[in-house]
Amino acid sequence: MAMILDGKKTAQKILDNLKQNISKYDKKPSLAVILANDSEASKIYVANKEKTAKETGFNFKMYQFDKSVTKEQLKNLILELNLDNSVHGIIVQLPLFNHLDGKEIIGLIDPKKDVDGFHPYNMGKLAQGNPSLICATPKGIMTLFKEYNILLQGKNVLVIGRSNIVGKPVSLLLINEGATVFCANSKTKNLKQIALNSDIIISATGHKNLVTKDMVKEGAIIIDVGISREGNRIRGDVDFENVKDIAGWITPVPKGVGPMTIASLMENTFEAFLTLEGLK
Ligand code: NAD
Repeated sequence: MAMILDGKKTAQKILDNLKQNISKYDKKPSLAVILANDSEASKIYVANKEKTAKETGFNFKMYQFDKSVTKEQLKNLILELNLDNSVHGIIVQLPLFNHLDGKEIIGLIDPKKDVDGFHPYNMGKLAQGNPSLICATPKGIMTLFKEYNILLQGKNVLVIGRSNIVGKPVSLLLINEGATVFCANSKTKNLKQIALNSDIIISATGHKNLVTKDMVKEGAIIIDVGISREGNRIRGDVDFENVKDIAGWITPVPKGVGPMTIASLMENTFEAFLTLEGLK
């Protein structure tokens, strides 16, 4: 029976620690979030970030736009926030309305304030093995490994999904730690064989029950990043009920990677604050 990698508990520990550190300074670290998309999911994600930021002692400011927003407007806002000394972190919540190019807009953020770690400068540093601000979900996964003393060197890791926000950056972080990484996508052949040869499986697709018991080696470590809805329930990519009988460690959904993502974002904002205020 697998042991649980408790993201909720680990995230709370990080946030309690951050709250204590923030209280030592007269100036508060400050996070600005730009929401230019009317999806309900994005609104929920931003509301969660706001709640956690405020509870942890950050200032939080949201800039919400409707469909009529132009590229120029967002560009001007980002340039203004880049120059604003009271702002330490800037997030552009993705996806944006269809007429806007997320990559182009994110490229305008000052890399020192890019607390999502999506700017090409920060992604490039990550690829070089010399990361500064690391994308929140991959960072949260790596923190969980550290918290539970899971060594990565020499391990075979299967990452399912190759997105710029999870699959690709987590693969780079694992490579940097000396793991042997296979990064799969929807066209990958023989996923089951590769999975059965893996010490660690990280699944980030949004397809429920993609990872089943017959794909998992006994004692393997399973990290479930996926989120999909089934009625009122939130589901991951992994058939948790059956996979937990064979895995060594497993993250639940919810209370696994999700809370670690938000806690890592707060850590990044505090790190940006220390850098920009010359405190480290
Ligand atoms: P995405 O939707 O951009 O890409 C999905 C990836 O999965 C693609 O690379 C695709 O090729 C791959 N894929 C799809 N079906 C596959 C299959 N059958 N076999 C192998 N690969 C397959 O992904 P994303 O933005 O990285 O998000 C992935 C999931 O993770 C979503 O459910 C998202 O909601 C969730 N997510 C969760 C958190 C969190 O904090 N828990 C954070 C980010 C994303």
